[in-house]
Amino acid sequence: MLNQIYKTIKKYDTIVIARHIGVDPDAMASQIALRDAILLTFPKKKVYAVGSGSSKFSYLGKLDKLEDLKDEKLLIVLDTPDKRRVDGVDVDSFADSIKIDHHPFMEKFCELELIDDTASSTCQLIIDLIYHTKLKMNTEIAGKLFLGLVSDSNRFLFQNSTEHTFRLVADLLRDYHLDIVSLYQDLYMRPLHEVRLQGYIAQNMIVTDHGVGYIKLTSDIISKFQADAGSAGNMVNNFNYIEEVIVWATISEDKKNNIIKVNIRSRGPQINHVAEKYNGGGHALASGARVPTMEEAEQLIEDLDSVCEQYLK
Ligand code: AMP
Repeated sequence: MLNQIYKTIKKYDTIVIARHIGVDPDAMASQIALRDAILLTFPKKKVYAVGSGSSKFSYLGKLDKLEDLKDEKLLIVLDTPDKRRVDGVDVDSFADSIKIDHHPFMEKFCELELIDDTASSTCQLIIDLIYHTKLKMNTEIAGKLFLGLVSDSNRFLFQNSTEHTFRLVADLLRDYHLDIVSLYQDLYMRPLHEVRLQGYIAQNMIVTDHGVGYIKLTSDIISKFQADAGSAGNMVNNFNYIEEVIVWATISEDKKNNIIKVNIRSRGPQINHVAEKYNGGGHALASGARVPTMEEAEQLIEDLDSVCEQYLK
């Protein structure tokens, strides 16, 4: 499969690399690293990494504007299990397509699909692709792939941080002498007001009868801490390992987009099916959903509580 992907990449002069809406470090690092690896290997190709970015992740590099391309082009979709969440391109307008993803399978929408939901991250799959084909890497590309992998595995906390994951990271460290202290600084440095919001969440988290910890963050609260719905939701990653809590969620009101974002994490019960019921999805133990009202968010929490109740039985 990796060689088939390489051969397809080699065949096309114009390549567009897309990923899911609601960009995160694994999605953005994998697309920028793959773009740069293809350009390093084939300098004459035109390669575009597209989709809405976020200034928060500017340390990962710049995305591209898609020109009106007349030539036959290849689409590579990264980190996205379903067509409706592909950001910035019309999937059906390409001559050929490849998907590389580590989410549980949802639907086939590309010609060639490499899906491994046991992989820690899409970046891990890209590291494998580069090491097993004639694609080239350099220190900058290696650093981005390291950051995407570290971010999506939440610093190797999750089950899918396997022996293979650690071997690949060891290979990167050996071959590219990564300065991990400076890379971690890019990924984890944040302003004091975000840390204060984290404190607010810890102080005000509600825990249900069966171990769902959740916090409702209205746009007023989010503004009070000078944060935005995206960074507020990301804080869900900081609340693992609380004895009384087995599933936890942040409910963040995004007034600008008139939506309520729910970020969910679990230490046991499978939660992606609940997220799918509420216009969301994701991994077994890390999912997200979007709901129109706080009432619906509360219903989602009740469903999570039932899942925990079953799990505890
Ligand atoms: P997040 O909480 O945003 O870090 O997302 C955790 C996981 O759930 C990631 O794999 C996301 O791609 C996925 N996810 C988040 N929101 C949604 C959504 N609205 N629909 C489908 N998947 C989502």
